[in-house]
Parts: sequence; C-alpha cells; structure tokens
Amino acid sequence: MPITDPEKKQLAQKARLHMKICFYCGARNSIDATRCRKCHNSYLRLKNRTLGIKK
Ligand SMILES: [Zn+2]
Repeated sequence: MPITDPEKKQLAQKARLHMKICFYCGARNSIDATRCRKCHNSYLRLKNRTLGIKK
C-alpha cells in the first residue's frame, strides 16, 4: 500500500536515512551512536542520502 501522505512519507524516509552505518561490519546504528553496537568500532559513517532514492 503506497503512502499518500507526503508529510508521513518524508518522516518515514528521514527516519530510515538518518542513521549511522558501521564501516567495519555494516551494522545500522542510531544517529547519535558513537560506536557500533555490534563490533564497537567507532568508525561509523552517516547514512544520509538524498530523499527519494528507492531501495
Ligand atoms: Zn560494527
């Protein structure tokens, strides 16, 4: 079922994109995480792509 509410859609996309990805193991971490929750690596990258990318 497609989301028709543009506000909700934007919110959902933001929630999905605003996270950090561990360079080492690729685990998703929260946006305010400083270390990976899986391997405790501090080398996290911000997953913040432009909105509208379909996955
Ligand atoms: Zn990790």
